[in-house]
Amino acid sequence: MISDFERRKAKYAPIAQTLHAVFGRPTWRQSLPPLDELIDCILSQSTTDLNKDRAFAALKARFASWEQVMNAPLEAVIETIRPSGLAHQKAPVIQDVLRRIYVERGEMNIDFLADVPLDEAKAWLTSFKGVGPKTAAIVLCFGFNRPAFPVDTHIHRVGQRIGFLPANISADKAHPVMESIVPPEAHYEFHLNLIRLGREICQARRPKCELCPLTAHCDYYKSMTYGES
Ligand code: SF4
Repeated sequence: MISDFERRKAKYAPIAQTLHAVFGRPTWRQSLPPLDELIDCILSQSTTDLNKDRAFAALKARFASWEQVMNAPLEAVIETIRPSGLAHQKAPVIQDVLRRIYVERGEMNIDFLADVPLDEAKAWLTSFKGVGPKTAAIVLCFGFNRPAFPVDTHIHRVGQRIGFLPANISADKAHPVMESIVPPEAHYEFHLNLIRLGREICQARRPKCELCPLTAHCDYYKSMTYGES
C-alpha cells in the first residue's frame, strides 16, 4: 500500500461532499453498449475526444456490424479510423480484440462481464494486447456500472495535486489506490466530478486555485500557500 494512506483516504468524504454541492451528483447511465465502449476506448488512446468521436462515427457509418469490422481488410479499417491517429496500431488491435471475442464467446458481445467477479473481468479485459487498466475500468464502470475507477490524465493530475495519490505514482498503478479510497457505490459519480474539476478548474497548465472549492483539502494548494508538502 502507498505511504500515508489513511491521511489520503480521509480526504475523500469532505471532497465528495463539496463536489456534490458544486457539481451535483451524476447518476449512471449507459452511453454505449459495453463492446462499443471497449472499441471507443481503444480509439481514444493518445488523441482528443473530438478525433476519437470522428473515428468511431466513421467506423459505425462504414460497417454495419462489429463482425464486418472484424472481417474487413486491415487497410479499410486503418483508413476509416485515421482521424483518431495511430491508425496503423489501433486497427489491428481492434480486429484482434473482435476476433478473440467472437472465437471465445461465440457471439459479438461482452455482456457476460456483468456477471463475473470483478477481478476476473479486469484480468480478462487487460489480457488483450492494447487494453490496459484505464480502458478496462472505463468499460466496467461506464458500460456496466461496476465498481472500477478509471484513472485518466485528469484524475491522475488532480489526484496527485489534492494528495489522493503520491507524486511519483503512474496512472496504471493509481487505479487500485483510487479504488481503495473511493467507496464502490461512488466510483461513477466521483470519477465524473473529479474529471469535471480537472477540466474546468484544476487544469494541467495552471490550476485556477482561486476558483477552487477544494483548497482546504488540497496538498498542492497548501504547499503553494504555506510551503508545506
Ligand atoms: S486547490 Fe488548486 S491544485 Fe488543488 S484541486 Fe483546486 S485547483 Fe487543483
